[in-house]
Amino acid sequence: MLDDPQGMNPCPCCKGTLVRRNASYTATRKGYHLIMDDVPAWMCEQCGETLFDEETVDTIQETLRQVDARLGKLAATALSAAT
Ligand SMILES: [Zn+2]
Repeated sequence: MLDDPQGMNPCPCCKGTLVRRNASYTATRKGYHLIMDDVPAWMCEQCGETLFDEETVDTIQETLRQVDARLGKLAATALSAAT
């Protein structure tokens, strides 16, 4: 069972225990930065390493693709960046 916390893999860094936490996810892309609060994640009790489920990563990637597409339209009509 993937959702069984007892079956969750230990921290890949220090083998510590991972606990369910909301974390913020910061994406740095060409032309913008996106910070998402309250993203479901796993956090290592020992070293603080934050891991995201595959499904969560997929959702984030999809969000970024949509933002990229919309910002692409803006960039096409934007004034040139100050030089
Ligand atoms: Zn750890």
